[in-house]
Amino acid sequence: MDMRETIVSAGKKLISEGFTVETWGNISARDESGLVYITPSGMDYEICTPEDIVVMTIDRDIVSGTRRPSIETELHLSVYRARPEVRAIVHTHPIYSTVFSCMGESIPLIIDEAAQSLGDEVKTAAYALPGTVELAENCVKALGEKAYACLLQSHGAVCVGSCMKDAFKVAKVLETTAEIYFRIRSIGGKYIPLSEENIAAMQEFVLKKYGQPK
Ligand SMILES: [Zn+2]
Repeated sequence: MDMRETIVSAGKKLISEGFTVETWGNISARDESGLVYITPSGMDYEICTPEDIVVMTIDRDIVSGTRRPSIETELHLSVYRARPEVRAIVHTHPIYSTVFSCMGESIPLIIDEAAQSLGDEVKTAAYALPGTVELAENCVKALGEKAYACLLQSHGAVCVGSCMKDAFKVAKVLETTAEIYFRIRSIGGKYIPLSEENIAAMQEFVLKKYGQPK
C-alpha cells in the first residue's frame, strides 16, 4: 500500500478505535528512503485523501503536498531523529491514559501484554504547549531509548512502532493497560509487579520466537 494511503486509513482507524475525537491526534510514517508522511493540520479524518498527506524530509523540507502539516510535526520529526528504528508514530487522546498524564504519573508494565509491547514503563513528558519544540524535546526524553509509548502531560499519548500496525498495537495495549491500572487504583488495590527478569524474558521471546518465521 502506498504510504499516503496507509496514513489515510490509519486516520479513520484513529476515530473508529476511539483513540481520539474530531480532528485531534495525528499520524506519520517514515519510508525506507527516510521521507516522512504526515497528516494535514486540523482536517477531518473521514474526508482526508492521499493527496492531503504532506511528505517531507527529516529537516522539514516539503517534498509533496499542499496542505499545512500537523501542528505536531516537530514532535514527529524529533522522535524519528532520536529513534532510527521507529517508522510510524500515532499521537492519540485516549481517556484512561490521559487520566494518568494529567496526574503526571507513569503507567507501569503491570500485565504481560504491556511487558511484551510497550518496551518500558510509560512515562509522562513534562508539560509544554502543543506544537512547540519544547513539547517535542520533552516527548523524546520521556520515550527514552526503549519505550514505545509516552504520555504528554494533560494532553494524550504518543505511540511508536516499526510499522503502522505496530504503532496501533502499542496504542491499544497502552490504553488497555491504563484502564486496568485505573480500575486497580479505583478500588484501592495494589498490583503485584512483574519481575524485571520475567519482563526481560517476555521481551526476548517476542523479539526472537513469537509468531511465524519471516
Ligand atoms: Zn494532541
